Amino acid sequence: MEAENIERYGVAQLAATRKYSPESEHRRSFLSLRWLVIILASYLTLFSHLSSENFPILFTFVLLFAGTNIVLALVPEGWFEGSAGQRAIAACDALFVGATFYLLRSPETYLYVGFVLIFVLALVWRDLRLVLFSLLVVSVLFGVFNAFRIARFALSVSIEQFLTLSLFFVVSIFYVFLSTQLARDAKLSRAVLVEKRNAEIMVEITRGLSSSLKTRDILGVIVSRLCEVLNATDCSIIVTDPKTGSAQVMVNSSGAGKKEGEIALDSVPELKEAFDGRKMVFRDLDGHSVVAVPMVSQDAVISLIHVAGKNTGRPPSEGTIRFFEVMASTAANALRNAQLFEEVEHRARTDFLTGLPNHRYFQATLSAEVGRAQRHNHPLSLLMIDLDYLKIVNDRFGHPSGDMVIRTIAETIRQSCREFDFAARYGGEEFTVILPETPLAGAIHVADRIREKIAMVQFAGIGKVTASIGVSNYPMNALAKEDLIRVADQALYIAKNGGRDRVAYFNYQLITK
Ligand code: GH3
Ligand code: MG
Repeated sequence: MEAENIERYGVAQLAATRKYSPESEHRRSFLSLRWLVIILASYLTLFSHLSSENFPILFTFVLLFAGTNIVLALVPEGWFEGSAGQRAIAACDALFVGATFYLLRSPETYLYVGFVLIFVLALVWRDLRLVLFSLLVVSVLFGVFNAFRIARFALSVSIEQFLTLSLFFVVSIFYVFLSTQLARDAKLSRAVLVEKRNAEIMVEITRGLSSSLKTRDILGVIVSRLCEVLNATDCSIIVTDPKTGSAQVMVNSSGAGKKEGEIALDSVPELKEAFDGRKMVFRDLDGHSVVAVPMVSQDAVISLIHVAGKNTGRPPSEGTIRFFEVMASTAANALRNAQLFEEVEHRARTDFLTGLPNHRYFQATLSAEVGRAQRHNHPLSLLMIDLDYLKIVNDRFGHPSGDMVIRTIAETIRQSCREFDFAARYGGEEFTVILPETPLAGAIHVADRIREKIAMVQFAGIGKVTASIGVSNYPMNALAKEDLIRVADQALYIAKNGGRDRVAYFNYQLITK
């Protein structure tokens, strides 16, 4: 499928834009050449054999051959280009030229047998050397005939008959050679056009790849471009983890194909082979063909491209293989860069000690959430959580113990939140939780649940550590981001002053345990 489609697609695209198709150009030149042989045969028939008994049959042969040329002008291009079509044409040619030789012969000479043999050899071998050799044969024979004539020997072959026969022979041999050259030229033009199209696709893919640093976008660009270009029915990218050997379908072009999620490489033989062998694998399966291409970066297969499409019955061409290799290595580098960028970005917004989002990320998220709440007129709550007497823990048990308490409580807070809540480390032993679409009453409820959970944790050798929580809410007591933080801070201050291990909210009323 790939070989066919990429080649056809490339050629079709360029043909549409430039009105040039190597196939039709080739057909036109090839048929013109055949007409030349037909015209020569007609000429010889009419002027040399008009009165001969062979004339009707010879003329019928010429007409039949002309008929095959008309049929060839009408058959679909694909058939004309296929190897079965080429063989049928060669058989037709051999039949026509052989028969014409036979009918052009004088009854006494069997020179035509030698000519037919050389012609058939030319059809099979198709070499310039054979053409030159046949010219030599004709020249030598001509020289011999002349020598005999000068020596006044009586010959059973007239020089005119010989010239007629050899003229047709030479033209036929050149026809074979030139038709082969034309076929080669057409193939070459097609290959050049395919390469050009491939280069254009590569530029498009590279442009798409460099326009984003997000892994999913990068993979999306590869999948959509490949599907479009190869006219594939299904195209997916499976990201592999070289360390664990696990594989996951990250992007899939069609809903009908593989579902995104974990897959076992062993269950898809072509993927397994491409992964282990680190080379492109092509398979012609029942009714469709598949290609698996590994994307290798830093000596490891980081993902696999899997393309499925219609069966073509032939393996991909060299150009197609090269295209896939270049595309895969470019994509692999882009993907690696995107992964590195995402890793750096993740580190830049994650707190090192707790793994929670850090202060900067919190500020950015709160801005976005306040904007969203204002746009949709939804409530939004904010919790400020401060551990009680952590300084004493540090002083008594050392900073590593204080760190361990912060880490454990961070995890307790994270686990107490819903999926769309946003828990972050505000700084030091202070945490914060953004609660989107949560009214004040709900936020107080969540805050108290978090407070309870923290208070329940038993730290070995230390005991329990409690936390105080301040709550603010949009739009009840704050309308801007800064107000939300300030009001939550004030509430927290009240909670501390109220005796700690408690939740306070905007009008400074305390919720008791
Ligand atoms: P309270 O908040 O109840 O008033 O008492 P506190 O002792 O927690 O408050 P304070 O603001 O006086 O001290 C905060 C302490 O938290 C000071 C500091 O040693 C400790 N702390 C802040 N960040 C870290 C950290 O990353 N690791 C450790 N081990 N301690 C930290
Ligand atoms: Mg504190």
